[in-house]
Amino acid sequence: MGFQGWSIRSMGADLDSETWYQCDRCTACCKWPGDVKVEDEEVTAIAKFLEMDEDAFIQRFTRLRMNRNGLSLIERDNDECIMLENDRCLIQEVKPFQCKGFPNRWNFKDWEKVCQAKPVPMAQALKMGLVEEGDLSANHAARGSEL
Ligand code: SF4
Ligand code: SF4
Repeated sequence: MGFQGWSIRSMGADLDSETWYQCDRCTACCKWPGDVKVEDEEVTAIAKFLEMDEDAFIQRFTRLRMNRNGLSLIERDNDECIMLENDRCLIQEVKPFQCKGFPNRWNFKDWEKVCQAKPVPMAQALKMGLVEEGDLSANHAARGSEL
């Protein structure tokens, strides 16, 4: 889920609050080159989920972000996120805000051209239980932070 070189618009007024875009798990965004940012609370949650010591998780699965301003998950040689295995996210339940939040809480110009998420009217999405608090982030404090 990198977004190198794209102009990001983070959570803000221009995001469509009437429509929920339901991810179809095509995994394209797990294969884009770039950072998969993890904040401190997310590192804690992911390490716990993987039953790993936090420092060991940081050593094994993270690197500095390209701007050196925090941590990112590492990627494989083909740019896929290290947590993607057999087209499935190994940390789906606690994946970072960057992953949880796309494309509903942040996106970029022309994101629809590279994402298969299907539009669902928000009222219907709420009724169907597609929008849950847990969908927004493993790290609630990171919600809306600059990506
Ligand atoms: S953490 Fe999971 S959802 Fe996020 S980029 Fe990696 S594999 Fe994809
Ligand atoms: S958010 Fe979009 S690009 Fe990412 S897995 Fe879902 S449908 Fe695919």
